[in-house]
Amino acid sequence: MDLLIHNVTIFTNDEQNQVLGGQAVAVEGPAIRAVGPHPQLRDRYSQFEEIDGEGRLLLPGLINTHMHFYGTYARGLALPRQPKDFGEILAWLWWTLDRALDLDGVYYSALLPAILAVKHGVTAVIDHHASPNAVEGSLDKIEEALTQVGMRGLLCYEVSDRDGKVVRDAGLEENARYIRKCREARNRDPNYLFDGMMGLHASFTLDDDTLAQAAEIAGELERGHHIHVLEGTLDEQETRRKYGVGVAQRLYERGIFGPKSIAAHGIYLDQQGMDQVADSGAMVAHNPQSNMNNAVGRADVFALLQRGITVGIGTDGMTPDIKVDVRSGYLMHKHDLGDPNAGWMAFQNMLLKNNPTIYRQLTGQKVGRIESGYLADIILVDYAPPTPLNGETFWGHFLYGIADAPVDTTIINGKIVMRNKKVLGIDEAAIAHASQTVAAETWTRFHELS
Ligand SMILES: [Zn+2]
Repeated sequence: MDLLIHNVTIFTNDEQNQVLGGQAVAVEGPAIRAVGPHPQLRDRYSQFEEIDGEGRLLLPGLINTHMHFYGTYARGLALPRQPKDFGEILAWLWWTLDRALDLDGVYYSALLPAILAVKHGVTAVIDHHASPNAVEGSLDKIEEALTQVGMRGLLCYEVSDRDGKVVRDAGLEENARYIRKCREARNRDPNYLFDGMMGLHASFTLDDDTLAQAAEIAGELERGHHIHVLEGTLDEQETRRKYGVGVAQRLYERGIFGPKSIAAHGIYLDQQGMDQVADSGAMVAHNPQSNMNNAVGRADVFALLQRGITVGIGTDGMTPDIKVDVRSGYLMHKHDLGDPNAGWMAFQNMLLKNNPTIYRQLTGQKVGRIESGYLADIILVDYAPPTPLNGETFWGHFLYGIADAPVDTTIINGKIVMRNKKVLGIDEAAIAHASQTVAAETWTRFHELS
């Protein structure tokens, strides 16, 4: 059904950051057809279904550029031992939890956070998945969960040598298979919601032959890599010990960095490493809440941005709501630097400009603006501005008001997925019930593996 959304204040997120009153948005199929005065559009698109925004704020759906849906099943999970550093957090929590997952666990651990994402206005996600005992078909399971909600996704399997070469091969094949599947699906239907890329864990768990194979497959399929880079000091120490070279140098030389690649974190990139990321055209996903949670440090996003690197922002599994990471990240930098002026423009650019740029660059899907020709990923927020709202004041409103305001309506690919704060076709209580059963089984396996 084509839509004509009116009685809204529109934040376009175009170059001028326009805030428009008295205008409507016409949505035809998956895309925005026109933005203009309501009476004019009503005449032109008289057959479109009218959606009365009741004075709400309309803006492009938000994007999360680094997520791990499976991390949901860590919630409330008691560890048998208390980790004292990042290496132990990885080994005792994440690399044991991912081994405990089966395909049901993959599906349910994605479904509830996907629902929560659209409830918070997140319409597209770049996920990084691991389930070494259930590799084949795992990306289809995440796709199935996102499809049930109606959410857009760019998925990959986290290839690693940490579970041996058989699981490594399965991971490489899962990425290749999924990328091909999405390519074929998009040949049939250009509006297909999903795409894939080559997921890699981190340099220190990836042998040279694995990097070579990943780069070869990604190159053949014209995709980039999504890899954790220097999230902790462990990555550099272990990479040097095992492979005799630093992380950035290694990934740069081996073609893992590139214009279609995402380097997540980048906390311990030195000047040369930053130059190598910049030179390769790779993009960076900053995940401040996760970095604080693991106590691994603060990425110098300002130095990265200064080099012209497209730095976006993700949640790394901490929350499906990117707004929470944006505000806490913004505060983290100010607090850490003792500088109340730090990060204002940087965070605006990371969320509103760079996240859509990353998504567009990796998938070719035109998301992130309220403008004719862009995909209709649109949210309506219950936000009555207490002070003047315009292009210059928008970011202040976002950080201190819109971030807390309830999202009423979420539209993805021109389809209404949430209306009146209800995700359509979803029985959340029943899903939570089923998820808890699967999670309990996963936790039993987790404790057996611990
Ligand atoms: Zn991550």
